[in-house]
Amino acid sequence: MLAAVSTAPPPSSSQATPAPRDRGDACPGTLRLHAADDGALARVRVPGGVLTTGQAHALADVARRLGDGELHLTSRGNVQLRGLPDACGGELAGLLDAAGLLPSPEHERVRNVVASPLSGLDGRGTREVRPWLTALDAALCASAASRGLSGRFLFALDDGRGDVASLGADVTVRATADDGALISLGSARESLRVAGDDAPRVALLAAEVFLEFARHGGERVWRIDELGSRAAELAPAVRRRLTESGIGCVRARQDTTVTGGPPPGVIGSALCVHAPLGRLTASQWRELAEVAPGELRLTPWRGIVVPAPDMTASERDAALSRLAATGLVTDPSSPWPGVGACIGRPGCGKSHADVRADAARTLAAASGSRLPLYWSGCERRCGHPRGDRVDVIATAEGGYRLTGGDGDGPPRTTDLDDVSRLATALAAITS
Ligand code: SF4
Repeated sequence: MLAAVSTAPPPSSSQATPAPRDRGDACPGTLRLHAADDGALARVRVPGGVLTTGQAHALADVARRLGDGELHLTSRGNVQLRGLPDACGGELAGLLDAAGLLPSPEHERVRNVVASPLSGLDGRGTREVRPWLTALDAALCASAASRGLSGRFLFALDDGRGDVASLGADVTVRATADDGALISLGSARESLRVAGDDAPRVALLAAEVFLEFARHGGERVWRIDELGSRAAELAPAVRRRLTESGIGCVRARQDTTVTGGPPPGVIGSALCVHAPLGRLTASQWRELAEVAPGELRLTPWRGIVVPAPDMTASERDAALSRLAATGLVTDPSSPWPGVGACIGRPGCGKSHADVRADAARTLAAASGSRLPLYWSGCERRCGHPRGDRVDVIATAEGGYRLTGGDGDGPPRTTDLDDVSRLATALAAITS
């Protein structure tokens, strides 16, 4: 099995450009690598962010044997391996396949599913989403049509708390208290209410109807919101398809209550840690896999949830201390969860700066910001989160430009020539 290497810029999974494209979907995977400045890059899809500890160890081995030894978490709870040799495709695919991380090579780039990471662990939410996740992933891999989805098309399975429902997925399934589910398509305000047990089937069916729409328009559209005015016709078409398939549904208002990802610490029966800038060293990853009784759940907020239902409170505290000793963030007051960055220099040739180093150097200033910060090496802002934030964008002149606001008015902008003055610049645009 050979992997192709693309030299096009690596598309960010979080970017939803509202215009059709005239070139192919270059989203990297494990069989289609991206040629970055620090070597080839592979993106390993991890539906729901769920890895067994055996799979976690296997990924660490792959990173050490073939890559730069580190693992990078994406804004969809996937894993990127960097610094790979161009010719490693066959070996990489074989190692991932042996670990059960490549169940269907034809679908490897379309298994983009985020799921509430604390589902079933903290008493919140109205439904345990794991059965949905298992069913949707199996249905995706069994569908010939779904191979046509873009590597950017995203499913979200929300247990009702409103965490992954806020991530702008193409198909969002949200549990309701009456054992049902609300299905939302892109950013449309209306939802469809279906029986909870039908939800995975409905999610796949909605994606397949979207593919028919996308093909019919004769344009390359990869995400539902890129359908433009035709997006309004999608929900009625999905309703018709459900009726033809004998699946009951009614129109419903969307539940707009949202919440963020889990903060670091012990929550319910889980340990929650944050990986600064989504980067984990091999030793951090190994410690996580050794502390975890059975599985890890990678979060779309660059964190890791370790389910530990059978640990005592003191065992959880001790395990969290072990993880803190590796440099993972376990303190809920840490500013790190509010700071993100693209890969920047030296990994990306488009970058004007080593944004990760600058983000780390100015962490104390970031801790005083009311809004999250996202550092980017250029205007593309790969991997930026949704929602209110301050974008800190490197410029060709050697400085940064800050843009942001809290949504109450137009975004403000200010220039920053010296990163040691970040606190002053932040105050200028967020006060
Ligand atoms: S510098 Fe950052 S934002 Fe720009 S293309 Fe590279 S990774 Fe993307």
